[in-house]
Amino acid sequence: MHDHRRLGRELELFHADPLSGAGLPVWLPAGAAARHSVEEYVRELERRAGYQHVYSPPLGKRELFELSGHLGYFAGDMFPVLRLSDDDEFVLRPALCPHHALVYRARGRSYRELPLRIAELGGMYRPERSGVLGGLSRVRAISLNDAHNFCPPEQVGAEVAEVLELIRVAHAALGVRPAGFRLSLRGPGEKYVGDDEEWRHAEDLLRAALSGLPYVEAPGEAAFYGPKIDIQVRDAAGRESTLSTIQLDFDKPARFDLCYADARGRRARPVMVHRSLVGSMERLFGYLIEVHAGAFPAWYAPVQVRVLPVGPEQVAAAEAFRRDCVLAGLRAELVVDGSLGARIRDAARRRVPYAAVLGAREVAAGQVALRLRDGRGVDPMAAPDALGLIAGVVAGRSAELLP
Ligand SMILES: [Zn+2]
Repeated sequence: MHDHRRLGRELELFHADPLSGAGLPVWLPAGAAARHSVEEYVRELERRAGYQHVYSPPLGKRELFELSGHLGYFAGDMFPVLRLSDDDEFVLRPALCPHHALVYRARGRSYRELPLRIAELGGMYRPERSGVLGGLSRVRAISLNDAHNFCPPEQVGAEVAEVLELIRVAHAALGVRPAGFRLSLRGPGEKYVGDDEEWRHAEDLLRAALSGLPYVEAPGEAAFYGPKIDIQVRDAAGRESTLSTIQLDFDKPARFDLCYADARGRRARPVMVHRSLVGSMERLFGYLIEVHAGAFPAWYAPVQVRVLPVGPEQVAAAEAFRRDCVLAGLRAELVVDGSLGARIRDAARRRVPYAAVLGAREVAAGQVALRLRDGRGVDPMAAPDALGLIAGVVAGRSAELLP
């Protein structure tokens, strides 16, 4: 495996500038293009699974985070409160759940609406110590693929099973290879809310959802409000971290007095399932850069096609092919400077999946010759067929470069 910080620099995916601040990298155009494709994919996967997406601000009033319990139980992992005046204080949020609880209670809810799945790719902030920062795996500004699923207690088991399946699908498409499942349980100490009965019940539900999967139990790793399933990945240095997570929470629905009208019109309390399919965009890409050695599947490669005219006479045809690729939704660029051999090698070094070469013979026949980043070549084919081949691989989100 390769260190994502070195590859991130070489491939110009992101930039860590001391002036921006430790743990606050900026995404360069190539990294942003790849991330955009992944975000679109995840949003569509969630939409099809019945999630509704919202936007909420990355900071909120102090009182919101007092109500949620974050200031009481989690203040050590939060930035200091921002004070505008004595009665106007704000918190850079460490999690999205408080805002999603407000979405839930923006109006009355009926059992018919449940499970209500509220999703957002949202910003949140944690003041990680500067010693542990570096690259994308640990940052202070986090863009989390997050959702909160509100459901009646009797639906929790099915909901957790469904989320586990969605995680499996997303991992397969992205090329994530989990290092293991972890059932994170309460440890000793006072840093947990809720009563023993609720905790036991929640732990049993998660244990049942994991039956048949290899997992380890990790006492002391639970969230302050409930136990969770964590799906771990390993970085180039062999360190484990959590990518995907499913957490049960009986506490926040009570704190926010969330309720719904059940089938008989009685007031009932939903359970809140916090879940992230692929974790934060930062940690996800830190991992994906390493596991793919920068050679992402074509569907989220920053540049999918580099169009290379052999000589000046082929530039117009090459530019026309590039434009057709762009109009077909692909990310394509034209490179004219340098020898053809050097340009093909540079495209491979940049992990561009396809180089489309146009020489005199190809242009005369209306063809292009594809060269893959792994060195394989494809016999010249009609330009629309070459475009169709690439577009098909991209649309199918295939891990392979040829159908
Ligand atoms: Zn949450």
